Amino acid sequence: MLLREVEYVRPSSVDEAVRMLGAHDGARALAGGQTLVNVMKARAASPDVLVDLNRLEELRSISVTGDTLELGAMATYTQIMASSEVEVARPILAEVCALIADVQVRNRGTIGGNLCSNDPTNHLPPLMVALGAEMVILGPDGERTVPSADFFLGVYLTAAGPGDLLTSVRVPAGRRDAFEAITLGADGTCIVSAAASVGDDVRVALGCVDAVPILVTPSSAEESAVREAVQGAGLEPPADVHASSEYRRHLAEVVAVRAVQKASERS
Ligand SMILES: Cc1cc2nc3c(=O)[nH]c(=O)nc-3n(C[C@H](O)[C@H](O)[C@H](O)COP(=O)(O)OP(=O)(O)OC[C@H]3O[C@@H](n4cnc5c(N)ncnc54)[C@H](O)[C@@H]3O)c2cc1C
Repeated sequence: MLLREVEYVRPSSVDEAVRMLGAHDGARALAGGQTLVNVMKARAASPDVLVDLNRLEELRSISVTGDTLELGAMATYTQIMASSEVEVARPILAEVCALIADVQVRNRGTIGGNLCSNDPTNHLPPLMVALGAEMVILGPDGERTVPSADFFLGVYLTAAGPGDLLTSVRVPAGRRDAFEAITLGADGTCIVSAAASVGDDVRVALGCVDAVPILVTPSSAEESAVREAVQGAGLEPPADVHASSEYRRHLAEVVAVRAVQKASERS
């Protein structure tokens, strides 16, 4: 299906992008377009203005300062998979990006677009919550930093609201992480996912069981503690053609245990 007529602008600086996003109520950022263009074709979204971020090279940088890895919002999955900074500071990011869809999607799709679309089946929202990442947002009133636990507000809804631009994601360094999912086909969409990080405490973020990732913090990495924490979360997952609510609740426990076990075995 052809797109509805839409105005298109291509800013040459981050400040100009924020000005353009704030100038029109119906303006939307265009990153990799792997979600946005598809929902526009399906008429599920019809922005008046597309603000194309693809010229903003400063949004693609990946750097490490002290114990913090900073990824520009326009860093693609392919770029993250190839990054030596990611490999040293938080290798799970590359591991999970390699699981997303296919090479075409990985070449175009960006970390910022993945997080800002907050599709509950996306791989990166639960991962960011488990890792305790922070989102840096630039809006008409300046810059603010939002912890990942407060960033995801609902299906396709995040703290980066109208007029806001997610500029980067800050991730603390660490290695004892894992991601486990039950997917449609070998590398398909997640039916249920779990990202785990094991350090002084154990953090598990569950995906596809609610509108936003659900964080549980088992008292230890023991299987019984993980099961107890997931059971205690009072999950009421959605049901669809792929899994009933009850089956998703069961799978959430299974993938959480697997993810924590795998993360614990890493050094
Ligand atoms: C066939 C196919 C299979 C897929 N399978 C998976 C999968 O298994 N797992 C998975 O995680 N994803 C999957 N995806 C989605 C893919 O990862 C998308 O790339 C991602 O969801 C959106 O990223 P994008 O850069 O393409 O963003 P876009 O589509 O350009 O934008 C998505 C949304 O985010 C907003 N946005 C983008 N960047 C910013 C920013 N910096 N600041 C503020 N708002 C912003 C846009 O306005 C838009 O609303 C799949 C996509 C396709 C086409």
